[in-house]
Amino acid sequence: MDACNAVEREVDKVLSKFGGIREHAERVLRDVINIVDELKKGFEEGPSDHELTPAQIIILKQSINKVKETVQRLATDHRDLHSTVSKVGKAIDRNFVSDFASTSREDVFSTPEKIHLLNQVICQHFYRQGMLDIADELALEAGLEIEASGKEPFSELNRILDSLKVHDLGPALEWAQAHRESLEAQNSCLEFKLHRLRFIDLIQRGPLGQTEAILYARTHFHQFINRHEKEIQILMGMFLYLPHGISNSPYRHLLDPNLWAEIHDVFTRDACALLGLSVDSPLSVCINAGCTALPALLNIKQVMQQRQVTGIWNGKDELPIEIDLGQDSRYHSVFACPILRQQSSENNPPMRLVCGHVISRDALNKLSSGSKLKCPYCPVEQNPSDARLIFF
Ligand SMILES: [Zn+2]
Repeated sequence: MDACNAVEREVDKVLSKFGGIREHAERVLRDVINIVDELKKGFEEGPSDHELTPAQIIILKQSINKVKETVQRLATDHRDLHSTVSKVGKAIDRNFVSDFASTSREDVFSTPEKIHLLNQVICQHFYRQGMLDIADELALEAGLEIEASGKEPFSELNRILDSLKVHDLGPALEWAQAHRESLEAQNSCLEFKLHRLRFIDLIQRGPLGQTEAILYARTHFHQFINRHEKEIQILMGMFLYLPHGISNSPYRHLLDPNLWAEIHDVFTRDACALLGLSVDSPLSVCINAGCTALPALLNIKQVMQQRQVTGIWNGKDELPIEIDLGQDSRYHSVFACPILRQQSSENNPPMRLVCGHVISRDALNKLSSGSKLKCPYCPVEQNPSDARLIFF
């Protein structure tokens, strides 16, 4: 962000300078044009065989000089502008790092299979965003075979989300009713929230919508009374303020347009959970994680270069430092072996010792001698074969 601000400051300088020059240029050019026009008129009015008097010659010369001077000054101003413009370029070079070498591994996408996987992930992302035509074209050009089951749920979800954007609750309600049992099983409030919005929409129409709102509440809210009693009571309270307008009542927060943004998110989250999908596409998750991690990686790269230890980070499957991507990017617990200081993997899983301490299998093998193992944390002696594999 600081980098953007620094560049923006330079751009502002250019803009204000350019504005100043333009104003000035317009003014002096107008003057010059007036002088030339005057002269032209003088020439046209005079007889065709008229010779210039010495006074007229002086006036003519002065005018020519004035025009020359003005044009030269404008050219100089214009040249000055160049240096200010080039400062913007320098500010961009200075503030934005473009050298990401050694923070990335170019060989990652080098084989055809990996490129195929990458295309698949990009294609999936487009389907999820509802850009079906782009996704179809990419699939065609990249030779991907996308099964109908891979795109159908997305086209339906996007159709529903599009209607929600224009405040049409119909398709979303239909979907929620069709999936009622599964939604309830995952403790979703989606259907109630959709009905609530429809109810608020009715009651918002004032006394005219009253009968319809009462009817709607009677038909739809009884099924939610166990889980949403308090919220339904609040909704019923709105009737009290109907004659004077809900927007001047203590219930005006229920008219907040943010409720529509919220339903959009609730629908996306619950529908994705129901279909066993992550809310964001794998591609956007990766890109977001990369963008968060990059500044820290660039910093460590600089430190490593200064201390001339660049060789240490040779681009294996792990990063030279731990980077916290924030709460949203945590998907499962990880275990790092306290002995080997490595994250556990399928080949080197965590093992629970009899005493309760956990170390990785490689560490366990290294520490044990025959059928004996001394826990490195509490000196309990045990048989390494008693250690149990732990699953996170
Ligand atoms: Zn122990």
